Amino acid sequence: MIKKLYTPGPLTTSDSVKEAMNRDLGSRDMEFIKMVADIRQRLLDLAGVSKESGYEAVILQGSGTFGIEAVLSTVIPPDGELLLIINGAYGTRMAKIAAIHGILTSQLEYPENVWPVPADIDQILYKEPDITHVAMVHCETTTGIFNDINAIGEVVKMHHKEFIVDAMSSFGAVPVDFEKAGISYLISSSNKCIEGVPGFSIVIGRRESLEQCRNQARTLSLDLYSQWKGLENDGQFRFTPPVQSLMAFHQALIELHEEGGVDRRALRYLQNYRMLLSGMRKLGFHEYLPEELQGYIITTFLKPLDPAFDFERFYQKLNQRGFVIYPGKLTKADAFRIGNIGQLYPEDMHDLVHAIAGVLDELGVGSCSGR
Ligand SMILES: *Cc1c(COP(=O)(O)O)cnc(C)c1O
Repeated sequence: MIKKLYTPGPLTTSDSVKEAMNRDLGSRDMEFIKMVADIRQRLLDLAGVSKESGYEAVILQGSGTFGIEAVLSTVIPPDGELLLIINGAYGTRMAKIAAIHGILTSQLEYPENVWPVPADIDQILYKEPDITHVAMVHCETTTGIFNDINAIGEVVKMHHKEFIVDAMSSFGAVPVDFEKAGISYLISSSNKCIEGVPGFSIVIGRRESLEQCRNQARTLSLDLYSQWKGLENDGQFRFTPPVQSLMAFHQALIELHEEGGVDRRALRYLQNYRMLLSGMRKLGFHEYLPEELQGYIITTFLKPLDPAFDFERFYQKLNQRGFVIYPGKLTKADAFRIGNIGQLYPEDMHDLVHAIAGVLDELGVGSCSGR
């Protein structure tokens, strides 16, 4: 049975993206080396930056977390200090990474349904001048909240600190302005809004910042600087690259371009989100986040209070019908999530809502009110 994934990744990919993987290719083959160069160029284009304007695209084996760990463990010098802005599980994960590497860290934590406040960050950076780097998540996939990286980035820039952004679940479908937000490093991965398959992470970095990271890595395989230099020197990866995943990604980038780029993909996901929201509200579901904080990537819905609603059974029954949703990850509220990203169109969201209505009937859930 073909299942559609309403998840934040891995997600539903096009047939042509899957077909692009269906052959063998050597990692030292000229064709592969050219493809990697083209991927790196297309990533810069997608980010709205260029080599000329001082940016570099680095690809690194492993899932998105590997990319974040590569950045945090490479770019912060031994005497550096990190300020982490946290309002969800992915921010907390960065804190764990920093702790493992013994990176001196200050944490500014907010509830999962609250926007970080630029003035708070301004105040901390005044009080703690030793902070060298600030990191935060763009779309916190824990809830789907869109954090304002422009407003916070401007504060970070004013204090002349390096700004690290986890744009894992937003890059490719939410416009980002590198200059305005003063981003030094942006991290994403192959299997989210660019609609490739899992296998590697992506770092778009300012060359001036990258140049300062020589001999600074705390690990061998996640050395962002050496990975970049390796790709620059001979176009190759230092260790076995995820060849098939890169072939799929190359095709996914072509398809993103054909769709009309970031703005058009943003529009499709927004339409998916609106279709989902109106359908779910009609069924009586409530969202966890206030509407003005909720982004269009993934939506968190509160679990209905009706005791007949058992999430495991709800999930399994939807799964049997070919609809894969996503459990919740909130620290406080009981909720589940539905992704709008991947090869999904408004009619797919309509089909999902229809399936949900059927499953609710089967479970005998009368009211979906979560409050
Ligand atoms: C998906 C995601 C990650 C990385 O998760 P992996 O499982 O390592 O791919 C990191 N941050 C955010 C915000 C994400 O959505």
